[in-house]
Amino acid sequence: MTTAVRWPASARFEEVKSGAPDGLGFVQDLLNTASMGKPRQPDLLESLDTAESWLKSSLAALSQIDSSAPLVPHPLDAGGLGRLRSLRDALRAALATGHAEDPTEPSTAVTVPSIEVTAAISLGADGAQLHPRGNGVESVRSYVLIQLAAATYADTMRRLKVCANPRCRGAFYDRSKNCSRLWHDVTTCGNTQNVRAYRARLKERGVSSQS
Ligand SMILES: [Zn+2]
Repeated sequence: MTTAVRWPASARFEEVKSGAPDGLGFVQDLLNTASMGKPRQPDLLESLDTAESWLKSSLAALSQIDSSAPLVPHPLDAGGLGRLRSLRDALRAALATGHAEDPTEPSTAVTVPSIEVTAAISLGADGAQLHPRGNGVESVRSYVLIQLAAATYADTMRRLKVCANPRCRGAFYDRSKNCSRLWHDVTTCGNTQNVRAYRARLKERGVSSQS
């Protein structure tokens, strides 16, 4: 088992208890830098100051469990921050595919921009390994995509999800046996959604009885 680390962005949502394992925990933390939750939490990648301090504490948490954790990009510039934000937003959009903006509407296709990074692959005693490449933010982006590739091969990628509640979209790791969780927390987000779906069904029945 891995050491329990405190991921700074994910910790803003007290309900997000089931953290993703290993380096995927950092990917989850990146997703949770977005503005969301109730009360609304600020976007940690909105300004250079908040982004730099998030990177510092999240990468420090990562280095406790992964010796190949990338270094904190310093100084962080606006271009680098923009590239980090587009990676986060593309990943959130990809994970939200299938969740409709309005749960009473059928889901619409989401266009996910493609993201490309460089990485190195080496063969050693432990088999083939991927290594992040690039300087500053690029090594962080490379690390994130390596974690996603590893999760895809290990078939754990489907467990990294964003909450089906469009007002939440908190990232969580679904540890349920059949990987069927929709909400990061069924009591806070699940109930709101259930109530709305129930109302929608009532309305639908009302409409169909008149026709
Ligand atoms: Zn939620």
